[in-house]
Amino acid sequence: MEVVAAGLHHLTAVTADPRANVRFYTRVLGLRLVKRTVNFDDPSAYHLYYGDAIGTPGTLLTFFHWPGASRGRVGAGQVGGIQLSAPHDSLDFWAERLRRAGCPVTPDTRFGAPLLITSDPDGIPTEILACREDPRPGWTGADVPPPYQLRGMAGAELRVRDSRQTLRVLQELLGWREVAAEADRRRLVAGPGQPGHWLELVGEPTLQSGRPGAGTVHHLALRAADARASELLRARLLAAGAAPSPLIDRTYFRSVYFREPGGILLEIATDGPGFLVDETVAALGTGLMLPPAFASARAEILAALPSLDD
Ligand code: ZN
Repeated sequence: MEVVAAGLHHLTAVTADPRANVRFYTRVLGLRLVKRTVNFDDPSAYHLYYGDAIGTPGTLLTFFHWPGASRGRVGAGQVGGIQLSAPHDSLDFWAERLRRAGCPVTPDTRFGAPLLITSDPDGIPTEILACREDPRPGWTGADVPPPYQLRGMAGAELRVRDSRQTLRVLQELLGWREVAAEADRRRLVAGPGQPGHWLELVGEPTLQSGRPGAGTVHHLALRAADARASELLRARLLAAGAAPSPLIDRTYFRSVYFREPGGILLEIATDGPGFLVDETVAALGTGLMLPPAFASARAEILAALPSLDD
């Protein structure tokens, strides 16, 4: 298989409180707010992006602000939460930092490696995995010392009732490889197989259906090198009976959306053009970026959005 969706690009989740969201991801986890824009379908609500210094694919967590959204339920047909890669000997630091910020902390072990389980202000299950062999640099602009900085997404957990068809799509159409299994959980990798290129597929026949809302993941995006690779992957999905969207321009990347057989909304996003198309590296995330269609309504949109400052 020549063209594959060789890693994680971004994960998008739902927040009801963008101010608490910014505080947690930038001040507690020490990620960079790399873009603040609005929901392209609803300019009265933020769409916030966090990542490394330039928003490299695989480091990106993005949040739709759904004002007044009630709490969703994590379950079947959803991504289970957020998994971040931390240096392998940094978990004591993170446990202490999270507790000081008032976050719950539960230590655990998976696939032989330790992790911490916490939750973000909306209740999204958030895991910090101790990872070896993650060469990605952390964001140096927050107050997290370099030996402890998070490097981006480690993996993502796909929760379904019957994992067989999901597994087939990941392996046969998208180029992922199963490398480990533990009870009802399989780990798959793509490309170089390092953190940022992991998936965990959990198949539980009795799992309750997920319900969208605050504190749940909306969709997960996998990487495609460029638009040509996206079109090839799209054609492969179409030929296999899936119903992918056309290639859509998302300003910072080009995207194809489809639902995998377990019900999870997946996206295939191109690595480029990236977050420097409308801001410099130094200015990333500091201004409100609006697509051209909303430019003339900028003042009204700004006035209606809540402040993100404490
Ligand atoms: Zn997306």
